[in-house]
Amino acid sequence: MISLVFAGKLFWLLHVIGWYVLRLPFDRRARKSSLRVDRKKGADSIRLGISLMGLGILPAVYVFTGQPAFASYAPSPWLFALGTVSGVSALILFRLTHKALGKMWSVSLQLKQDHKLVTTGIYKRLRHPMYSAFWLMALAQALLLPNYVAGPAGLLGFGFLFFSRIGPEEAMMQEAFGEEYSQYRTHTWRVLPYIY
Ligand code: SAH
Repeated sequence: MISLVFAGKLFWLLHVIGWYVLRLPFDRRARKSSLRVDRKKGADSIRLGISLMGLGILPAVYVFTGQPAFASYAPSPWLFALGTVSGVSALILFRLTHKALGKMWSVSLQLKQDHKLVTTGIYKRLRHPMYSAFWLMALAQALLLPNYVAGPAGLLGFGFLFFSRIGPEEAMMQEAFGEEYSQYRTHTWRVLPYIY
């Protein structure tokens, strides 16, 4: 029988691959589009780098080498089960957000030449459902990898990106869409309905 540690690592890897495959066509398309606004490029690259470190590099090092070994603990079937549920939910939500945003999506703080505010689909009640999906992905990592460094690294790395970007992103949208965005804000939550 395969060990729970191995199963957790395998599932983490599969869900990262699923993530990449879902994003690929949108990434290709985004590279071709012409931009109207490209905000705080340097700061945003640092944010993306820190997030990638926590969600990608540190867990990948652990998955492939078992390091840092001193930080490992015994796996639990409950954490593994919750981790798989969280990972699958993240992928479903991620797909819904890309579907709704379509060609308005970009990896950093940018607006396209003919940018439109998306307020339908999964964006009807949430302003940042793609970030909700990233929180779920980071949670899945923390639950699937029984290591005190590699597990929580995603929550810390993405948390840094989230809390430092949400303000500038909303300011950019407010500036670009004015009253339309103010209205949209009145009946939406950021990432978690009824909470935040
Ligand atoms: N914060 C959003 C989108 C992340 S992608 C989410 O979590 O779902 C980042 C880019 O998406 C931003 O640069 C912005 O141009 C675009 N964007 C964010 N919200 C949008 C919306 N409601 N309509 C159209 N574009 C949006």
